[in-house]
Amino acid sequence: MKKKIAILGSTGSIGTQALEVIEEHSDLYEAYVLTANSQADLLIQQARRFQPAQVVIADESRYDYVSEALADLPIQVYAGADALCQVVQNDEVDIVLTALVGFAGLRPTVAAIKNRKQIALANKETLVVAGELVTQLAMENHAAILPVDSEHSAIFQSLMGEQSEIEKIILTASGGPFRKFSMEQLQTVTPGQALKHPNWDMGAKITIDSASMMNKGFEVIEAKWLFGVEADRIQVVVHPQSVVHSAVQFRDGAVKAQLGVPDMRVPIQLAFSYPIRLASTFDRLDWYHMADLTFEAPDLGKFRCLGLAFEALRQGGTMPCVVNAANEVVNLAFRQERCSFLQMSDIIESTMQRTTFVAQPTLDDYFAIDAEARRVADELIA
Ligand code: NAD
Ligand code: MG
Repeated sequence: MKKKIAILGSTGSIGTQALEVIEEHSDLYEAYVLTANSQADLLIQQARRFQPAQVVIADESRYDYVSEALADLPIQVYAGADALCQVVQNDEVDIVLTALVGFAGLRPTVAAIKNRKQIALANKETLVVAGELVTQLAMENHAAILPVDSEHSAIFQSLMGEQSEIEKIILTASGGPFRKFSMEQLQTVTPGQALKHPNWDMGAKITIDSASMMNKGFEVIEAKWLFGVEADRIQVVVHPQSVVHSAVQFRDGAVKAQLGVPDMRVPIQLAFSYPIRLASTFDRLDWYHMADLTFEAPDLGKFRCLGLAFEALRQGGTMPCVVNAANEVVNLAFRQERCSFLQMSDIIESTMQRTTFVAQPTLDDYFAIDAEARRVADELIA
């Protein structure tokens, strides 16, 4: 029996690489659901090729276009955000890959967990916003959450076969394109420069988050919830070559890491195949021609977003949700040249101070606080 996979965000960087993995192992997996936000043409092309049972176009204005283009095929076409929550509940679905970007991932991920689906989690924002609630729900519903984020997959792989306590997580970071920039240079960097990541080819939002190192802050929060380790035992280490994908140090001082060529198909494939590993044709590390592997401390003075994420995690409650919402607003504003690179952290910090704080939030609270924080951040930009 093939495993049926629902890919939320199939037209994105992770989504398209997941389809490559499915194609490579078409004896084991099938794409049962494909979804996109507004990229109708690519979604149609994918649907014709992979013949899923269902597709969803989140942008409702594109519904007629998609459904007409697929009218000759036995594919159910839906539109809107609610449909994302519906399709993941289908009894046929075995695995839900959350490869959509931002807060929009929270509701469908919760719906999938409540229906006991295996989650291949790329959408880190879900754990940033509501990590406690989501991991609790996953435990209650016996829904496994398998990390797709390369660092978390590396940590997960380092923990395979281990029973002992984690002393420390070493979370590696490439440092992004501005690692060596001075404060003065950072004042004038453009979206075009920020969108050129040295090692990874990713969607625009996460590429900007990598340049500001907010992505690493989010990954600290993600690691806390996935592995139950407090922030003071998660050490961020800048490793520009992105070969050591992350590591775990145990109580005897031993450190286990996972290494490899930067290729997201490795963690995607493992999130589908765990507990076994499948063969792959992806590039291998070339040990005789590997550049020097270097490691250094992050510069929290230059990359203030990383510090703000640690601070949000320390405060807990809805604070990480506020940081995520404000970050989504400034990330887009920076890409649209409505705010500068360094203003991003200023606006996030002010939004943290001005938004209502809820210490023990419910799911509804997260939606209310997300909306409030977006309003505050928008006002600050204007
Ligand atoms: P992307 O922008 O390339 O793709 C996003 C996908 O989600 C697209 O299919 C888009 O149509 C869909 N989408 C966007 N907004 C949506 C919305 N509001 N409703 C429904 N669908 C929506 O992004 P990506 O780089 O593939 O990243 C996806 C997620 O994976 C993010 O959470 C990111 O942090 C995480 N991630 C990505 C990488 C990577 O290498 N790209 C690595 C680690 C983690
Ligand atoms: Mg990552």
